[in-house]
Amino acid sequence: MIIVIKPKAKKEDIIRLKDKIRERGLTHLTFREKDRILLQVVGDAKQIETNGWASMKCVEKVVQISKEYPLASKEHHQQKTLIPIGDKVLGSDDFVVIAGPCSVESEAQVMEAAEIMKKLGIRIMRASAFKPRTSPYAFQGMGIEGLKLLQKVREKTGMLVETEVMDVRDVPIAAQYVDILRVGARNMQNFDLLKEMGKIDKPVILKRGIAATIKEFLMAAEYIMMNGNRQVILCERGIRTFETAYRNTLDLLAVAVLKKETHLPVIVDPSHAAGKRDLIAPLCLASAAVGADGLLVESHQNPEEAKSDGEQALYPAQLEKILKDLKPICAAVGRKL
Ligand code: PEP
Ligand code: MN
Repeated sequence: MIIVIKPKAKKEDIIRLKDKIRERGLTHLTFREKDRILLQVVGDAKQIETNGWASMKCVEKVVQISKEYPLASKEHHQQKTLIPIGDKVLGSDDFVVIAGPCSVESEAQVMEAAEIMKKLGIRIMRASAFKPRTSPYAFQGMGIEGLKLLQKVREKTGMLVETEVMDVRDVPIAAQYVDILRVGARNMQNFDLLKEMGKIDKPVILKRGIAATIKEFLMAAEYIMMNGNRQVILCERGIRTFETAYRNTLDLLAVAVLKKETHLPVIVDPSHAAGKRDLIAPLCLASAAVGADGLLVESHQNPEEAKSDGEQALYPAQLEKILKDLKPICAAVGRKL
């Protein structure tokens, strides 16, 4: 529900309205539109539906929102969410490429990776310090040590860094070390983690769950947003289907649907969908063509030695070629690479 406040409403009447919102266990976000203050009220639908809002002194009108994800929806918020990251703005005409290794493996490995990214003109490096692995015996990541290495990368190379967080307790810690936090596909409906991500002041990449519908995906974004953090970046990374020729089915139609449905930026991770490096280049180009705001892609200077996802890690030369091939596609769809 959106409550439009009268332009000359008295302060005390607005306070009474806000008290009523609070008393009903609801929360609100404040926007300004020309000379109007708008309160977007979110919470339990039954409480919101209760009459009486429109008759309050300071209220000009009440607009009901039909979506289950009012904050993420475009219904009453057509302006695109813009997320400045370094010299680029995600959600604008910029096409933002985030690339790097699956995992942080050692200081030398992340430093070398960062130097390579920098030479390629990439400004944000991905690398996970906490690893969600299907096998409990597989490499589990370097943990906090890994975060510290990412901080070193930032300091020494000037690169921005992005990493996954799996545990609620690690969210505020990771927020001190890195520029962008990520919720992995397996945690898309870890609601406590989403709420914690809502309390930080850093952009969050939210990956689509392996079997999540677009609606569930947007409701997960809503969890982060309703807790205060509006800097949510949606990431399509493939969903599980009956197909076995590749790891997951990259749902590029979801990108087109999301761009219609939400004002949040949408990026694509072709690496975890394809599972094999030779399939990734066309998926990168197709992502740009379909309207994505950027890519999250895995690369490694020595994939044979990678501690995780080596088979899908691009060689630096492959990444360089993709960046070159992306240029005309981006230009054709009005994007700057
Ligand atoms: C990753 O990006 O490193 C990762 C584990 O991806 P996903 O959560 O999409 O499986
Ligand atoms: Mn990976």
